[in-house]
Amino acid sequence: MNGRTEHGPDRAAAAYREVYGAAPAGVWAAPGRINLIGEHTDYNDGFVMPLALPLTTLAAASARDDGVLRLSSGDVPGSVVTLSVDALSPDARDGGSWAAYPAGVVWALREAGLPVGGADLHFDSSVPTGAGLSSSAALEVATATALDELYGLGLARPEAARLCQRAENDFVGVPCGVMDQMASACCTAGHALFLDTRDLRLRQVPLDLAAAGLRLLVVDTRVKHELGDGAYARRRASCEAGARALGVRALRDVPYESLDDALAELAGAERSGGDGAVPRRVRHVVTENRRVAEVVRRLDAGEPAAIGPLLTAGHASCRDDFEVSCAELDLVVEAANAAGALGARMTGGGFGGSAIVLVAEETAGAVAEAVGKAFAAAGHRGPRIFPALPADGARRVC
Ligand code: ADP
Ligand code: MG
Repeated sequence: MNGRTEHGPDRAAAAYREVYGAAPAGVWAAPGRINLIGEHTDYNDGFVMPLALPLTTLAAASARDDGVLRLSSGDVPGSVVTLSVDALSPDARDGGSWAAYPAGVVWALREAGLPVGGADLHFDSSVPTGAGLSSSAALEVATATALDELYGLGLARPEAARLCQRAENDFVGVPCGVMDQMASACCTAGHALFLDTRDLRLRQVPLDLAAAGLRLLVVDTRVKHELGDGAYARRRASCEAGARALGVRALRDVPYESLDDALAELAGAERSGGDGAVPRRVRHVVTENRRVAEVVRRLDAGEPAAIGPLLTAGHASCRDDFEVSCAELDLVVEAANAAGALGARMTGGGFGGSAIVLVAEETAGAVAEAVGKAFAAAGHRGPRIFPALPADGARRVC
């Protein structure tokens, strides 16, 4: 990001002009997200409840008629990646390069038979990367939203999200679920997005925090523990093993009411050599799906403050049963709740990244200060803390 002007459509368009020598046909925005509740449920066909952040990735873009794809980003100054859309292939992808994300989207759209040709794109983002706020999905969805309009594809938003997920899974090579892309594509301001990841059934659930005198604080711990990648694959494998052992298609099919029976069955199977992990993973997924349903019920009843304890219970389950938290995330939750927060939890994949804290407006400052002090006392680098109201999903901004 260059520091001359504020992040926004004007800066994105000006940077595009500098890089490509002409004005863009338009500028499209796609937000980062937090997940209110429903963690590690999306690859179990379960329920999630993300909301869009006011932080966005902007794509200033124009179509080209020669099949050339050019990509540049304010986060990677001075480099323009030039590719041919006909030559895009997951095998030829430029391994660790950031350009694999937008190039993968072009590839996925074309794989779906959509008439997408070349384009020039410049990205300008206010979503911090690697903070668990889904800068990768914002980058993908900004790309898809721009190309959708430039090429008149008429893509439904959930379909665009699915194709962005395919880009990240099969082109970039990251085995993520569909939540992040759905959040970036489909959220609306003032709402959390209830999403059934089995069939992408969705519902906008009112979450007017300001009217209720509440705030959500996002706490970016600014740490990312490296064990995350392998651990994610192992968690997925444990969930699949649990579903197999219980004879269901996915853990979403284990009813909360029969959790005890399921755990007894798994414990029996584990006596022959397991380490007890599978039952704990199953318990997290089944109870987390239940917590999502309960959060929806309380929000529908107009009681947003009452979701606080469910957030904290969700954190305990991520920490103890799914084992995807870390010392910094636990410290946010502990310090925030001790300072009077209504509830708090890690959000996103875990092992670092960000946590969210639900607070009454008048205690927001004191809670943020308490979290900062707790980090200093523990010798951690200061976290980045900012308030967030549910914002709109992907859209054209100029
Ligand atoms: P998260 O999605 O939680 O931010 P990821 O590791 O999934 O973290 O994605 C971060 C990666 O996405 C970055 O390392 C970079 O390759 C790419 N990326 C995201 N936003 C941008 C951007 N604006 N410009 C260039 N690359 C970006
Ligand atoms: Mg990501």
